[in-house]
Amino acid sequence: MAEVIGLKGARVARSATRAERIDLLVRGSRILPFDSRIAHASEIDLTGHLLLPGLINAHDHLEFSLFPRLGNGPYGNASEWARDIYHPRQSPTREHLSVPKAVRLVWGGIRNLLSGVTTVAHHNPYAPSVFTERFPIKVVRRYAWAHSLDFSPDVAELWQRAPADRPFIIHAGEGTDAHAREEIPRLREMGLLDRRTVLVHAVALAKGDIGTIRRSRCSVVWCPSSNRFLFGTTLDAEVLRSGIAIALGTDSPLTGDGDMIDEILCAMEMSGLSPDEIYPLVTSLPARALRLQDGQGRIRAGGVADLVAVRDSGQTPAAALANLRPEMVMVRGRVMLISARFAIRSGVALNGFEALQIKGRGSWMIRADIPGLYRAAADAIGPEVRLGGRRVCP
Ligand SMILES: [Zn+2]
Repeated sequence: MAEVIGLKGARVARSATRAERIDLLVRGSRILPFDSRIAHASEIDLTGHLLLPGLINAHDHLEFSLFPRLGNGPYGNASEWARDIYHPRQSPTREHLSVPKAVRLVWGGIRNLLSGVTTVAHHNPYAPSVFTERFPIKVVRRYAWAHSLDFSPDVAELWQRAPADRPFIIHAGEGTDAHAREEIPRLREMGLLDRRTVLVHAVALAKGDIGTIRRSRCSVVWCPSSNRFLFGTTLDAEVLRSGIAIALGTDSPLTGDGDMIDEILCAMEMSGLSPDEIYPLVTSLPARALRLQDGQGRIRAGGVADLVAVRDSGQTPAAALANLRPEMVMVRGRVMLISARFAIRSGVALNGFEALQIKGRGSWMIRADIPGLYRAAADAIGPEVRLGGRRVCP
């Protein structure tokens, strides 16, 4: 049977506004009942920390995490942007594309891990040989998807084939012009809007369609910094507060500000939503939209041990999201990241961990082959490697 790890001394998030002092026990990937009295093999003293559920990033394209932002908006719609930036034989795209894809995907996992994300929805084919237990975070595995109406002529067929218990994820209404505005009504006419549907972006969602979307029980993924870069605008606060299930996503650094920390700040800035309103957008709502089955998005007995420890200053769990700096991240009960500061006193065995410093963010020990990953990137793009726009110092 898997060994039991004790997590002692932390306050544990129970909701956006409430945290309680609870000592947790984790066996394998699961949190044991809170009052368990089981001898444990090891213990991590988290006194002075607040434990949050691992965040869920509802939209990313992991393989573009080392890319710089590309394009000069504002654009009318996303296809216009894609045509503008697609020059695979020109710098810097040529050099970036010559970094092996598996390496780029792992950097995408690390970029998410550093911002407290433990589950990500990757909007591209699932890569089983890369997204193994060794991958830094979890990638949603059970999903059906289409890129978009423009790039997926077979969207109706993909929908037909999609199993009923999985989310169906599609970029839709990504833009502000007439072309973008047509997409959601078109999906409705095609009968593709129901509780499985996850519309990514929906910037073009007309106010008149809010009721239809709410009644159809679709979810919407909101990527404010990407929207701002491409279109100079994002979802209206009226949509955000309409009762439609909204989940926050970073999109990739091709268009977004960087990572989930940046995205949360951008979301607050652009919408005026409070931290209490943002909290469900990175926890319970994406868990529901993506149909996650293991208790992701909450810390509960029997749930998966996807946990993020931050320094405790008596803040609420929601307030901890603003300028989040993870001191430790556990994915499926395994420590994957620990800050250089906390590593020294934590007692966590650091075999298999390597140092990683991100300029302007901090220094961590990560359970990944950082020197090898850095070399594989630097060989193609030169020593100035940037992750989500920030300089990597291996
Ligand atoms: Zn996207």
